[in-house]
Amino acid sequence: MNNSTVPAIFGGSPVRKKFLIFGSPKIGKEEIKEVVDSLKSGWIGTGPKVARFEKMVSEFTGAKYAIALNSATAGMHLSLIACGIKSGDEVITTPMTFAATANVIEHIGATPIFADIDTPTMNIDPIKIEKKITKKTKAIIPVHMAGRPCNMTQIRKLAKAYNLKVIEDAAHAFGAKYRNKKIGSISDTSCFSFYVTKNLVTGEGGMVTTNDKRVAEKIRIYSLHGMSKDAWKRYSDSGFKHYMIEVPGFKYNMMDLQAAIGIHQLKAFEQNQKRRREVWDFYNHAFKNLPLIRPTDPEKNTEHAYHLYTILVDIDKLKVSREIIQQSLHAENIGLGIHFVSLHLHPFYANKYKLKRGDFPNSEFVSDRTISLPFSAKLTDKDTKDVVKAVTKILNYFSENQLKKIRSKLPKAIGN
Ligand SMILES: *Cc1c(COP(=O)(O)O)cnc(C)c1O
Repeated sequence: MNNSTVPAIFGGSPVRKKFLIFGSPKIGKEEIKEVVDSLKSGWIGTGPKVARFEKMVSEFTGAKYAIALNSATAGMHLSLIACGIKSGDEVITTPMTFAATANVIEHIGATPIFADIDTPTMNIDPIKIEKKITKKTKAIIPVHMAGRPCNMTQIRKLAKAYNLKVIEDAAHAFGAKYRNKKIGSISDTSCFSFYVTKNLVTGEGGMVTTNDKRVAEKIRIYSLHGMSKDAWKRYSDSGFKHYMIEVPGFKYNMMDLQAAIGIHQLKAFEQNQKRRREVWDFYNHAFKNLPLIRPTDPEKNTEHAYHLYTILVDIDKLKVSREIIQQSLHAENIGLGIHFVSLHLHPFYANKYKLKRGDFPNSEFVSDRTISLPFSAKLTDKDTKDVVKAVTKILNYFSENQLKKIRSKLPKAIGN
């Protein structure tokens, strides 16, 4: 075995010299110019650029209202409040998600009820949702995992039948479409994230979209201390207006500095998505014959947002854990993400709700095997080739080594 086939974790030479950051965003000159413009204008807090960005997102998604916030987490928190979900209510969501999805349910004193996923899509399974509905159930929070839209027809049907609100965790799904409708225009609210690793970034940031005027107004008021409408204009040239505190709100507003980035991220969005699709196809083709499960193709009548490219490593075949594969790839200087360790296995949720391994087998299947590879419009062909090289090297190394181990245990005559 020569040095280049030995994993770097065992002393071989890494595939790359320079570490490849997992979700490094593509920031263009326009974004930089706009941020500088904001800084020079003196208006860096919530202002006209936030309003412009909101209008752009509302037009892009086809939703009547868009409220910019400092995160998707804030969006989900305020959506629950604006939709009237209260302490003691039950909210059904997926265990295959980021903690924020369930944390916000805890924040309002409601109870998160997990329903298992459908393995190939990694999305919440509507059949499993229905089994979890009780008299206390008031809402569903579906998550469009990796950018793949959930089955919204089935989810809407359940919501209608049982009178439930639907708050979409659309943190992965900016630009996704379900049956010719953009994600953001379908449910009571949809919550997008513009966090650094997402497919549209503002550093930190998020947006809630809705078609419900009352929900939109409530979210807006709650997002800025509970101050009455248009409070941000109180220092503008349109004249000082006294604000009144209507509810004890939060501090969740977006700044113009963030919107300045978002405006140009949105302008470059289609172009960036095109590059993501290219990388997706490149990975898909390159990983055909490795011991891993590739993402299934997007469903008919949907558009995937291509937020994450996630492989499921075949740990049954490789006989090593995902952690070993993960650490080995990291040592090759490839940055990775894990989306996600199933929520019911985290101590808080496990302890509080007496959840354990075996409760959500499909989510556990993904949780034990998932690795998200570097996936961004910024990646060069050299970067993506390095990723393929590293994944191929590591998975081949472990499958061959296992083969050798098995062979060494067999009697000589059949061992070759
Ligand atoms: C990133 C993420 C969030 C949180 O988004 P923030 O904007 O950081 O609050 C919520 N849900 C999922 C599934 C995410 O991946």
